[in-house]
Amino acid sequence: MVQILPSSRSQVRPLGLVDGCGRTIDHLRLSVTSKCDLRCVYCRPNGQADAPAVRGLLTDERRIELVRFVHEQYGLGRVRITGGEPLVYGSVVRLVAELKRVVPDVELVMTTNGRLLYNKGFELFHAGLDRLNISLDSINPERYREIAGADIGDVLNGIESARFVGFRDLKINTVVLRGVNDHEIVDLATWALSRNLEIRFLEAMPVGPESDFNRRAFVSAAEVQAVLAKRFQLDPIRRDPGATARLFRATSRTARGVVGVIAPVTDPFCATCRRMRLTAEGMLYPCLLDDRSVDMRPAFGDAGLSPTRADALIRSAVAAKGLRGVTQATPMVRLGG
Ligand code: SAM
Repeated sequence: MVQILPSSRSQVRPLGLVDGCGRTIDHLRLSVTSKCDLRCVYCRPNGQADAPAVRGLLTDERRIELVRFVHEQYGLGRVRITGGEPLVYGSVVRLVAELKRVVPDVELVMTTNGRLLYNKGFELFHAGLDRLNISLDSINPERYREIAGADIGDVLNGIESARFVGFRDLKINTVVLRGVNDHEIVDLATWALSRNLEIRFLEAMPVGPESDFNRRAFVSAAEVQAVLAKRFQLDPIRRDPGATARLFRATSRTARGVVGVIAPVTDPFCATCRRMRLTAEGMLYPCLLDDRSVDMRPAFGDAGLSPTRADALIRSAVAAKGLRGVTQATPMVRLGG
């Protein structure tokens, strides 16, 4: 890999990337692969093969160049590494280390199913990954297998080892589906709180091939909150600007901690959205629930990234970011959830 110099952003005031609705976009979701080792029912059903790459993948070097450019030019607060499953991507530890070196003042976080954390958690922590969100839709081994098509043991080991190697503020993401895991909401919350883990319950979004199933099995965040309120005292925590979750301090006789609900369908946070996402293949999506995207590969020539072309492409993508998204045909596994 060619050595990319660390960002000199501290000496230059970035311009800020503002969309047509006045929102500042400073969070990038960076998908590094469309491959995943799970087959979650709300994402892609059992047996569905990995989404084949339509075009070549962006190289890590190009990803780093692009992140550096975006940070210097506009200012980035956070890069979230995702997929597919980011931990099945062979060079993910090296990529994290390089990003930390090149943009040290950007928060680097990852969303993962956690199955490979047992092997990679230590290296990721020492490479500079700041935080982890781990997806877990059931704590019942049979149900987990029904939902995700894999053994829950690897995830539970992964969570424990992540904590052991030094990660703090681990967050658990749970997609709630009627008739699948909606009767497990209290058990999941109790399990998480007793381990000092923050858990967030998500509404299923109508994204990709499972859109119809997700609409049929939909459980609203209000319903999840009502279920939690029967078992826990819920005291609202003030939301940071742009935060997606409504958080509560939850207290019962036996447990205490933070739980959250995320309502992208019934209470979309579009008005304060600050995200854009770059797929593993280099397509820049300004909105999760909008099929429109911009191909970033023409920003690269033989001499590397062209700042003029990159700027024009990014601005055209962000200018197209609507006030509110509606639906998305591209599978989540390819978009970078
Ligand atoms: N493989 C990683 C993981 O499992 O966290 C990262 C990618 S995954 C697409 C990111 C997150 O999106 C997971 O928490 C997953 O549960 C969530 N997700 C996937 N499809 C979804 C949908 N249709 N609605 C809501 N959340 C979804």
